[in-house]
Formats: sequence, structure tokens, C-alpha cells
Amino acid sequence: MENCSIENCLKPLKAKGLCSMHHQRLLRHGDPYMVRPRRVRKVTMCNWVNCTNPAITKGLCPKHYYIYRVRQTSHM
Ligand SMILES: [Zn+2]
Ligand SMILES: [Zn+2]
Repeated sequence: MENCSIENCLKPLKAKGLCSMHHQRLLRHGDPYMVRPRRVRKVTMCNWVNCTNPAITKGLCPKHYYIYRVRQTSHM
């Protein structure tokens, strides 16, 4: 039994070398690789000046949160 031709997809083949899910995507979007990431609801940007990275912790991106933490601890 053959699997879907999409990389990392182990679902059984349905049509055109694709599984039912990827075949659906091909029909809907014209591209079986079209994926909409789940967590796109609230992408908060980092509060740091001129930083456009997504905020992960306390309104800061991982890089700036690290800097923030280092500063906090050095203010003893
Ligand atoms: Zn597939
Ligand atoms: Zn940042």
C-alpha cells in the first residue's frame, strides 16, 4: 500500500499521489502544501524598541526576555 507523496505524510494514498487530506488541499487551494498554522490568533510583537519578533514571555521575544532577565538580576 502506497502512502501520500507529501513529505512526512504517512497517510494512505487516495488520489493523484496524495492522501485525502492533501488531495483536499490541492482541490481547495491548488497547493497540497498549503497549511494554515493553528496558533495565529494573537501574535503579539515584542515590546522592545524596533523589535518585530513575536513576544513569547512578558511581552518580549525570547532574545529580549533573556536580556531583560539578565538586567533584572544584575540590579541586585
Ligand atoms: Zn498527505
Ligand atoms: Zn525582541
